[in-house]
Amino acid sequence: MNEFLKEYISLKENFVKHHENEASVLALYEFADRLSKHTEKEAIEVLVDVYQLLYKMESAYKLYESIYDKTDRKQIKKFLGLKDLNESHGDRFATPRPLNKKERLKREERKKLLPKFRYHPDPLETGSFIEGEAKICPCCGKESNTYYVKSPYAVDDVDYLCPVCISNGEAAKKFDADFIQDVDDDFVPDKEKRDELFYRTPGYLSWQGEYWLYCCNDYCAYLGSVGTKELKEMGIAEEVFEEYNKRKEFNDIEEYLEKDGSICGYLFRCLHCGKHHLWVDVD
Ligand SMILES: [Zn+2]
Ligand SMILES: [Zn+2]
Repeated sequence: MNEFLKEYISLKENFVKHHENEASVLALYEFADRLSKHTEKEAIEVLVDVYQLLYKMESAYKLYESIYDKTDRKQIKKFLGLKDLNESHGDRFATPRPLNKKERLKREERKKLLPKFRYHPDPLETGSFIEGEAKICPCCGKESNTYYVKSPYAVDDVDYLCPVCISNGEAAKKFDADFIQDVDDDFVPDKEKRDELFYRTPGYLSWQGEYWLYCCNDYCAYLGSVGTKELKEMGIAEEVFEEYNKRKEFNDIEEYLEKDGSICGYLFRCLHCGKHHLWVDVD
């Protein structure tokens, strides 16, 4: 067994044992940083596995495409599996790289420069915006290090929209697009609220597309994905489950709800009365 594989196995054991906690995830990312400086095939093969473990399917696929042995049936099979995962998942569901304390403070500073979204107050934290190497925004043509992780609902694929073009409505106009899949139909908002949500608010990552909740005659603010564990930590599990169960959607979700798991919760808060509301989606 080569040294890269040995280290991978030990980091993976740690990752599983500690339920993918921040320290074990960060250790994998740092290992990936080191592996990416190597050119040996053994290192690149292990890097593909690290990416897969972190749900970076696009990265794993692209890397494997460059090294796999096209005469080896087993490797062809693995390649095709990664190809499917790249198409269905890409890097969108990647476990985020945990920030260290200094990085966290810097990020708070950068957040202050982003436009404000009434119905989605912290899209960087919810994962709807990601930070990375600069990309050209297809709407304004300017480079941005922060961009929308999804493509809006439009005829064409529109990737890497910058926050400004979403917030001022230019992206929706230019691509005849909107950002939200569905809303609670019981609520009929005035046009301004509806336009702000559909055309000027970044959506969120979920299994079946966004479903936006409302309260007190307005749409709610989306806070992020949650599981039972997170709701209990926030001290609101009982109240949101009680309300959710009245919807008669899925039963016994308390037992299964897991942040970004196959039964995932999406948490909202009313902008007026402050009450929390839960939506649940399954894969
Ligand atoms: Zn732009
Ligand atoms: Zn309310």
